Amino acid sequence: MQTWEIRIRGIVQGVGFRPFIHRLVRTHALKGSIRNTSSGVTLTLEGDEDRLSSFLRELPEKAPPLAVIEEIRTDRIPFQGFSDFRIIESERQAERNTLISPDIGICPDCLREMRDPADRRYRFPFINCTNCGPRFTIIEDVPYDRAKTSMKAFPMCPDCDSEYHDIRNRRYHAQPDCCPVCGPSLQFYDAAGQPAAGDAAKLARDALKEGKILAVKGLGGFHLACRCEDPAIAGRLRRRKQRDEKPFAVMCRDLSGVKSICEVSAAEARVLSGARKPIVLLKKKHQGLEHLSENGWLGVMLPYTPLHVLLFEDGPDMLIMTSANLSDTPIIRDNAEALETLRGIADGFLMHDRRIQTRCDDSLCWVLDGQEYFARRSRGYVPQPLTVPEQETQILACGAEQKASFCLGKGGHAFLSQHIGDLKNLETLEHYEQQIRHFERLFDIRPRALACDLHPDYLSTRYAQDRAEEEGIPLLQVQHHHAHMAACMADNGLEGPCLGLIWDGTGLGTDGTSWGGELLAGDYRDFRRLGSLRPIPLPGGDRAVKEPYRVAFSLLREAGCPVGGVRDAEQLSRLAEAGLNCPLSTGMGRLFDGAAAILGIKERCSYEGQAAILLEASAREDAGFYPPVIEEADGLLRFDWREAVRALAEEKKAGTDAGVLAARFMNTLVEMAAHMAAMAAETSGIHRIVLSGGSFQNQYLMHRLPARLRGLGLEVYHHRRVSCNDEGLALGQLRIASARLQAERHGGRISLDFGESGR
Ligand code: ZN
Ligand code: ZN
Ligand code: FE
Repeated sequence: MQTWEIRIRGIVQGVGFRPFIHRLVRTHALKGSIRNTSSGVTLTLEGDEDRLSSFLRELPEKAPPLAVIEEIRTDRIPFQGFSDFRIIESERQAERNTLISPDIGICPDCLREMRDPADRRYRFPFINCTNCGPRFTIIEDVPYDRAKTSMKAFPMCPDCDSEYHDIRNRRYHAQPDCCPVCGPSLQFYDAAGQPAAGDAAKLARDALKEGKILAVKGLGGFHLACRCEDPAIAGRLRRRKQRDEKPFAVMCRDLSGVKSICEVSAAEARVLSGARKPIVLLKKKHQGLEHLSENGWLGVMLPYTPLHVLLFEDGPDMLIMTSANLSDTPIIRDNAEALETLRGIADGFLMHDRRIQTRCDDSLCWVLDGQEYFARRSRGYVPQPLTVPEQETQILACGAEQKASFCLGKGGHAFLSQHIGDLKNLETLEHYEQQIRHFERLFDIRPRALACDLHPDYLSTRYAQDRAEEEGIPLLQVQHHHAHMAACMADNGLEGPCLGLIWDGTGLGTDGTSWGGELLAGDYRDFRRLGSLRPIPLPGGDRAVKEPYRVAFSLLREAGCPVGGVRDAEQLSRLAEAGLNCPLSTGMGRLFDGAAAILGIKERCSYEGQAAILLEASAREDAGFYPPVIEEADGLLRFDWREAVRALAEEKKAGTDAGVLAARFMNTLVEMAAHMAAMAAETSGIHRIVLSGGSFQNQYLMHRLPARLRGLGLEVYHHRRVSCNDEGLALGQLRIASARLQAERHGGRISLDFGESGR
């Protein structure tokens, strides 16, 4: 007989972990106890060594789906002589260290019950259990129990209460547990906002079948839903929502529905039908569905709440499901807000009386190397922390501006927020500030230092500056692309020096110009700029971002090509000749925009990144490349794109297919990156390279560039847990601030003035 103390760290509270341990202990005929601790649970177990070992082996394999085990430590301790197995109820921890689970899609057990006419939760739209249901979006405060969630308005009936207290029941300690007797209820409202009598789910299904547009209350906000096969209905939604060209996401009843419209690999099927239920970007099976998405991909998800399941009961096989918000405001959360804001947009409202405490948009990803590659990491993933080394803690990193997010660090955990949106919108800025406070309260973090971008005009920078001043705490400003690089390093758990290929639209450089096609070398503390693009003049400044033909003009003009064919050529020539309002940018996003316009793919954008996305979508395989011209001046490598632009323009004029040229353009970038990285690796002696920045949302690049770089003997890392775009930036800022503060404390000499180190 032996006695083992097993300490488990991770997300193991409020996820059905103790009932699971209870069952596993019984299976192995062990005795002892379990108690919650500040960082997880501690088990004391007695039995013979074989049984203890097999218990320990099965523990991580059989753990409940929501549990995240970060560490298991086992020590032999003196024999205690337990007579049974018991759960020791812990006193409230003085320090809040409990991790909070993300919202999880309906599990197979609950699905079975809600389809069973004999079950007391038959067709119940709020069914959930310890393995599934709302979490993050209903939690008001910690510790996590019902009284501190939106479920406090629904006292449990005796039946639910006995399930809740029965350790053998799969709803043991499931805080949102409820039933038709005690739980929330569903209600349908007509276009005028008047409640309608009858079965709400059926009324909604009938309205959808008739082609109506409905507002449907989800987990982290409202969706607008309608049938998706009819371009006229989708067109009506676009007009009412004033969403001209941006693709819609679709929800399909099941996987076979998805397969009828998209190519689905085994890995994609796994992500689609997993517990977290993100929107997955899939390749469309055939042309058509243009009214849903103008490019080659379609964002698809499966039903993730019991309410969605009801919508598909005998309704359409698939629905457009787009988040209900207007022009960059946060997703709509409250019933009254929905009725007011969506009047004239929705023909009906399917709502319920469980409050959404926290807004959380659907996550959006595609699948790379068998796992999620995020464009937006939100519902289903947030607020699950990322593990980081325990260094300086209690730091708030404030992120970027357009794809704002923030990140709080504490004791080996980095809590990255959900998708927030564009802070230039006042409501979004308020949402951002509220969420920072909410996270600080939930995870008991009082920032002792702040990190933000170098850009003085980002509203996240202003927020950080104000707070630093008010609270008298240090503020570290971090160069944008260094933060991207650090985010990808942290995402992969890398320490020490790396090369970083950072391609995005724009970010303020240390020289005061806009960067975005950079090759950096450095670590968390500091970096050097080794490579970039020949700067591109942007006639009209910010207007050039929305109007790629302006960039095309610049590229052609610089390359010595005729510009007569470009829209507004005369006016742009005057601007360029006078050098008026023509800031320089090395942004890779701009080079994509310009190429797209030269190829006649897109001249004006109605949403961010549109030209680059359409260029990628139009690319044909095996198109070759133009030998990239790379020049060196003062130790900085520069990709001189003029040769490639000349070739593109001439071949386009000669009638070569735009799709072939689009591929040739991107292949040229792959070659350019390979040459530059090889040179940088040789001079720096660093052979690890991370890829970050919004341009790496590009599947064409991501399916070629890493392999090309590996072929050179480089170790290549891309994002896996956070988004490569600005949404992931805060994680990098956090790690950089932490490393600098630590270096400062240990007397290391670091420079907070980037002017010296960044070239
Ligand atoms: Zn369940
Ligand atoms: Zn009940
Ligand atoms: Fe960026």
